Amino acid sequence: MLKGKTVLITGATRGIGKNMAEAFAKEGANIVLNYRGEEPLELAKEIEAFGVSCLLVKADVSNFSECETMISKAVETFKTVDVLINNAGITKDGLIMRMSEDDFSDVLDINLKGVFNTIRHASKIMLKQKSGAIINISSVVGIMGNAGQANYVASKAGVIGLTKTVARELGSRGITCNAIAPGFIETDMTDVLKDEVKQIMLNQIPLNRFGACEDISETAIFLAKSKYITGQTINVCGGMLMN
Ligand code: NAP
Repeated sequence: MLKGKTVLITGATRGIGKNMAEAFAKEGANIVLNYRGEEPLELAKEIEAFGVSCLLVKADVSNFSECETMISKAVETFKTVDVLINNAGITKDGLIMRMSEDDFSDVLDINLKGVFNTIRHASKIMLKQKSGAIINISSVVGIMGNAGQANYVASKAGVIGLTKTVARELGSRGITCNAIAPGFIETDMTDVLKDEVKQIMLNQIPLNRFGACEDISETAIFLAKSKYITGQTINVCGGMLMN
């Protein structure tokens, strides 16, 4: 069902994004792989080894016009964007009393405005073709709150509101928009946390393990294939948050 479809994934050089690029390629989808640093040529080769095409597009998701160019390049190459996955994200943690204005803005610009930027441009082509799936990576902390992450939590809560609004605006045109809220997933982002913090998190997870990138990828594939789910946030967190 995803064979020959075009899947654009932001921030796909590492962690969850990279894993999703590989997982969707295994399903036979062509990949538009967004990066912001050095061109990930080896990764593109790995993805093409699954027998699909991989277009590398450099863009900082916080930049509106770079996102416009990214979507245009995807459409030039593959004629369409069937699935848009907003995955790029950063953290700049600190207690609110000490958080700088820049640290607040930088996280909001990438994690929330970045999601607006890609949807703003990709929705044009999806509206034209009257189909599409948008999947935004939020976080359970966007629902629960988390001390030391005011900027990150605000951005991820914003992503959930944005997801619901886009679902309402574009639903009548056959476009779904959903969010995934991961819990604690083992990537570079969580690797920096102290062991004591990791243990506290683990104690809150009924399934008694941290999540793997694959846990997020399989949910993204499920959502990309789903026709009657929209405006939802799926918690993929080992039961850390139940609602
Ligand atoms: P990660 O390993 O730190 O990877 C983040 C990716 O985003 C990297 O590829 C990075 O590119 C890219 N990126 C950052 N800023 C960008 C920008 N301005 N433009 C384009 N790409 C950008 O993080 P991860 O753990 O895989 O997280 C992926 C997503 O899941 C994020 O949205 C994160 O908030 C969310 N999430 C993660 C967890 C978790 O436990 N890991 C939990 C909840 C939610 P570079 O390689 O150039 O830095």
